[in-house]
Amino acid sequence: MSLGELAPVCVAIVGSGPAGLYAAAELLKREARVHVEMYDRLPTPGGLVRSGVSPDHADRRKMTAVYERLILGSGRFRFHGNVEVGTHVSQEELRRHHSAVIYACGASADRRLGIPGEDLPGSHAATEFVGWYNAHPDFADRHFDLSCERAVIIGNGNVALDVARMLLLGHEYLRSTDVADHALSALAESAVRELVVLGRRGPTQASFTVPELLELKQLGDVQVVIDSGDDLHQEDVDPQAGGGMRALRQRILAELGQAHDGDGRPKRLTLKFLTSPVAILGQERVEGIRVVRNRLSVDVAGAVRAEATSNCEDIACGLVLRSVGYFGRPIPGMPFDAASGVMPNRAGRVVADGHCLNGSYVVGWLKRGPSGVIGTNKVCAQETVTALLEDLVFGRLAPPASDLNAFDALLSKRSPQRMDYRAWNVVDRHERAAGLRQGRPRVRLSRVTEMFHITR
Ligand code: FAD
Repeated sequence: MSLGELAPVCVAIVGSGPAGLYAAAELLKREARVHVEMYDRLPTPGGLVRSGVSPDHADRRKMTAVYERLILGSGRFRFHGNVEVGTHVSQEELRRHHSAVIYACGASADRRLGIPGEDLPGSHAATEFVGWYNAHPDFADRHFDLSCERAVIIGNGNVALDVARMLLLGHEYLRSTDVADHALSALAESAVRELVVLGRRGPTQASFTVPELLELKQLGDVQVVIDSGDDLHQEDVDPQAGGGMRALRQRILAELGQAHDGDGRPKRLTLKFLTSPVAILGQERVEGIRVVRNRLSVDVAGAVRAEATSNCEDIACGLVLRSVGYFGRPIPGMPFDAASGVMPNRAGRVVADGHCLNGSYVVGWLKRGPSGVIGTNKVCAQETVTALLEDLVFGRLAPPASDLNAFDALLSKRSPQRMDYRAWNVVDRHERAAGLRQGRPRVRLSRVTEMFHITR
């Protein structure tokens, strides 16, 4: 049987981040009879493209725009913002009214360090700080005390560098970006002059990418210090250390350290490698952090590991931002692997008790875990959509038990205020117009009530 002979198929996509958008575009492009209903717990589409990507990387936010145009141009797509699956509707209800459901919910929780003092005031997950400066409604009311001179960021990935840049870029620059207004004011008053970024392994093993490292060279008034704990010869430990991208990264780090050595710049960023946090110190709030120096070793599987030495040090600081990874959240009623934070799947088909669940699929960070750039989700979406369309061809998708009108009626009761794409365009235009008046890409709204008010 060819796809053309099949009846129209209504697919629900839960989550409007890059993975959800790529999956929608792929489905609509490959199968003319598919109609997509996209649900997001936020009124605004885009996922981390809106609420994760750093305000000084505005060009990267445009990456999904072409897909949005493709989706909207199809005439077979609806967006329902402000609908949370698991709160407003259950996965069973969703499944009952759609031919298939693709979960594209990302990984919005944060990993814990599991050390004493982690919950002291002044110690925050980077997820919160990122959401706050990007006007994510969940974090608009957070308060970050920036009255200290030194802050410590734990983690050696790009998010740690995003956070570092936001703390170090001056007000002059930030006010030309779309950083949330509340963050712009708070950062203008910030007393933070020194950042220490901790990485448990060496420069060779850090996950920073080259463009992010090169950006550190542009931070005009910041002295960059590289503390690589280099009494260790890492190339001896890690046989791949000399190769390709790693070598390039190391060269950039070396150049950064030399270029800025002691030239009296007012701010300072220390990349401190081979160092792990042991405890966050303080009585009422963060006063410092105890760290231990590590040495590298290679385990039986060939992986480079950090091993603690007996060499400890206390670093005084008033703010700790923990950037040790995002983590998936379970969707009530759906399988979830609590160890890896993903929805168990085979090539995008959701798996429970060793069997694929008919009509349930997963894509993006909830499928693979929190790694990869925006574009990585495109290949990931192609795989999931291929699985779905294969199941369609082979008659493995049961038709929905009830139609979409009934589901619309249910939604109207459970989440009376919903944002469709036309309403989102009103909010989008409002934000851009406000930005134009201030010479910024947009002035972001961070409150859901405000967004719905504008659409009226
Ligand atoms: P997300 O983008 O997180 O989208 C998930 C969506 O699901 C969200 O809209 C969420 O509201 C919704 N959702 C969650 N649960 C529910 C529910 N129960 N019901 C309804 N909706 C739900 N990549 C780059 O290429 N360049 C960058 O500069 C860059 N910067 C980044 C900065 C940060 C801080 C982070 C964390 C990531 C960055 N990335 C960047 C990576 C990129 O953002 C991810 O690869 C991508 O967003 C993952 O896509 P996703 O769709 O799986 O998840």
